[in-house]
Amino acid sequence: MDSLLKLDGVSKEYKSAYGRVRALCESSLEIERGEILGLVGESGSGKSSMANIIVRLISPDKGKIVFNGVEISSLSARAFRKFRREIQMVFQDPYSSINPKKSIGYLLKECLKIHEKGMSDEEMERKVSESLDEVGLDSSYAKRYPASLSGGQRQRVAIALALIIRPKLIVLDEPVSALDVSVEAQILNLLLDLRKKHGLTYLFISHDLNVVSYIADRIAVMYLGSIVELGKTEDILGAMAHPYTKALFAASSDISATLSGEIPSPMNPPSGCPFHTRCIYAKDRCRVEKPSLSLLSSGHFVSCHYPLRGGEKNENSCGI
Ligand code: ADP
Ligand code: MG
Repeated sequence: MDSLLKLDGVSKEYKSAYGRVRALCESSLEIERGEILGLVGESGSGKSSMANIIVRLISPDKGKIVFNGVEISSLSARAFRKFRREIQMVFQDPYSSINPKKSIGYLLKECLKIHEKGMSDEEMERKVSESLDEVGLDSSYAKRYPASLSGGQRQRVAIALALIIRPKLIVLDEPVSALDVSVEAQILNLLLDLRKKHGLTYLFISHDLNVVSYIADRIAVMYLGSIVELGKTEDILGAMAHPYTKALFAASSDISATLSGEIPSPMNPPSGCPFHTRCIYAKDRCRVEKPSLSLLSSGHFVSCHYPLRGGEKNENSCGI
C-alpha cells in the first residue's frame, strides 16, 4: 500500500474531574494516497480524538503518526509547521473554524498570506475567486460574511479554506452531519469531484454508515476507541463481519432500529471485547479476552472472536 498517513498504536486518555477517559486504545490505521477512508462509529467512540491527533490539535499519549514517510508525531511544533498546509481539517460546524466577523474573501486571503508568503494581491484575488468557483460559489461570495450564508454554503466555504493552500490530506470530521439530506448529497458529490480533480486523500468521519458508504473507498469502524472492522466498502457492505457494524448499518438504514443501550463509558470500559455488553452473540471468552484486529479475507479485518460469516448470520437480524 502506498500510504500517505499511517497511525501506529495510537492511544489517548483524557483526565477529567471525574476520572480518566480512555478515548483511543492502541489504534492503528493506514490511509492510501488518493483514497477516501471513512471512519464511522457512534458518538463517543473516539473519532474526533483521532482526527484532532492527526492535525495536531491534541497530542497522543502513545503511538506514532507517519505522514508522507515522515514521523510527524515526534516533530517539534516548529518542525511540524511545514506539514501544516499539507494536512487540513474541515469541521462539522464551520463556525468553530470560521471567524464570523471577517468576509469570506478576507478569510481565504489570510490562508494564502500565511502559507504562500510573497504572493501578489492580484494573484491572491485570482486564487480566491478560483477557489470559490471550485466549491460552487460565485466570486460575489468573497464580499459576504459567514452569518449571511446557509449551512451548505458555509460548509462550501470551509472546504474552500482547506483547499486553497492545496493540501495532500483533508480530515473531514462529520462535515455533513448538520446539513439537510439534499444539501448533504451535494456536499458529498462536491467532495468526490474535488478529490478526483486534485488527487486528494480524505479521512472522512461520520456516525452514519450510509453516508460513509456513499463516499468512502474503505471503511474503518470504531467502537470505544478501537477499530473493530476495516475493509473495502463493498466488502464490508457485502459481508459485515462485526456484530457492531451490522447494528450500525441497521441503525443508519432504519431510524426505528437503533442500537440498544448506550455506548459504555470510556471511563470504565468493559473487560474483554469492548462490545460484549451489547452483543447478542457474546460468549464467555468475549467477556475476558479482547480480540485483536485479524485478517478475515483479502484486505478485510475484524476484531471479533466469532465474526459473522457472509451467509447465515448476516441474513439474520443481529438483534441488537
Ligand atoms: P467521537 O468523535 O466519536 O464522538 P470523541 O473523540 O469526541 O468521540 O470522544 C471520545 C471520548 O472522549 C468521549 O467519551 C468523550 O466524552 C471523551 N472526551 C473527548 N474530549 C474530551 C476532553 N477534552 N476531556 C475529557 N473527555 C473527553
Ligand atoms: Mg466527534
